[in-house]
Amino acid sequence: MTLEEMSAFFKDLGEPAFRAKQVFRWLHRGAVSFDEMSDLSKPLRERLGGLCSITCPAVERRQVSALDGTTKYLWRLGDGSCVESVLMGYKHGNTVCISCQVGCRMGCAFCASTIGGKVRDLTPAEMLDQVLFTQMDSGREISNIVLMGIGEPLDNFDTVMKFLQLVNSPEGLNIGMRHISLSTCGLVEKIDKLAQLGLQLTLSVSLHAPDDATRSRLMPVNRSVGVEKLMDTCRRYFQTTGRRISYEYALIDGVNDSDEQADLLAGLLRGTPGHVNLIPLNDVAESPLKPSRRVAAFQKRLERRGVTVTVRRKLGGDIDASCGQLRRKAMQRQGERGERPSENHEERS
Ligand code: SAH
Repeated sequence: MTLEEMSAFFKDLGEPAFRAKQVFRWLHRGAVSFDEMSDLSKPLRERLGGLCSITCPAVERRQVSALDGTTKYLWRLGDGSCVESVLMGYKHGNTVCISCQVGCRMGCAFCASTIGGKVRDLTPAEMLDQVLFTQMDSGREISNIVLMGIGEPLDNFDTVMKFLQLVNSPEGLNIGMRHISLSTCGLVEKIDKLAQLGLQLTLSVSLHAPDDATRSRLMPVNRSVGVEKLMDTCRRYFQTTGRRISYEYALIDGVNDSDEQADLLAGLLRGTPGHVNLIPLNDVAESPLKPSRRVAAFQKRLERRGVTVTVRRKLGGDIDASCGQLRRKAMQRQGERGERPSENHEERS
């Protein structure tokens, strides 16, 4: 619940409005039961316990990279579903990458999260819990959030907007919109809808190919819309919000890494303020697609054509740190054993 919803809830119970603020603060500091809320009377705590439930994910697996401390969490949710979050340390602070759906229905050819499709949307509380419990479990304060885990944020639009409102709340974690990035595979109507909200977050668009033939092969979402309409939408987004878009481009060997494709990409971005984030493809066991060997050449070619480019630094190279890999492994183990895994397990590599 937002603070406003909680205030209305307490009003209906015949309780003073300040109760909402008290409970909201407890929840956003990670309380998992009403009994912990020591400034509420015992009868009220009991009444709330009978009326409400507090979500709390369990650490199903935790992998800590020996190389850079990147920590991957596999959370088990109330219904037994699992989702992933990754905690990464940068000079400017700690970033957590969170999931917004159990699985994904977008079907991108290179992505482990989409194998097996979408099981369900997460709730705003389950999204917030990933930030809160990553912070509590690791003891590292989180200053930045990226919505780049499992799922398509704009396919779970209302939930994601409510999550943003919660995490942004001064009574809660108070993480500013400029410290949040949202990544989409390119749902154009939803990008327009997001633009209307005028949020100061960073929008990342997973482009991955500059031509329809390649992009439709890699990303089924492109088959109905196409690169041209997507880029028109991105230009509109910039005009409406004034926020530069970041374009993600995972370089795949022999698929999207040619000089011609670099030139086409530079052409698409001409006259549009934007930034290209080149990602060395993460190898996914189930996929025949392999990482490109031309990252530096592709980067140079774009730069020569005036495009601002960064190559994403690889973190957690020794753990299953990228999209959906850890959940896949847990699902496979579960299948092999014909049961659901339940032990709380830490792996260090
Ligand atoms: N659904 C959203 C956000 C989740 S994926 C989206 O599509 O943007 C976050 C980013 O990781 C996306 O850019 C996605 O295309 C990329 N990604 C997925 N699998 C990858 C892989 N195997 N290697 C490199 N990047 C990958």
